[in-house]
Amino acid sequence: MAFYNVCPKCGANLDPNERCDCEETAEKEKKARDQLLAMEKGTNQLTFNWSLGKAGL
Ligand SMILES: [Zn+2]
Repeated sequence: MAFYNVCPKCGANLDPNERCDCEETAEKEKKARDQLLAMEKGTNQLTFNWSLGKAGL
């Protein structure tokens, strides 16, 4: 009885209409990392401006 789909990427069980967000999450994390790196380059120091990042800079 397979009333669910299995994500081929991460193996998560999904409802028939559910789309796995593992790829989206990976993409977001990658973007966040790039943003953080760019921020570090700009300020030339390791600062964690999480509130700034979440504001959608
Ligand atoms: Zn997945």
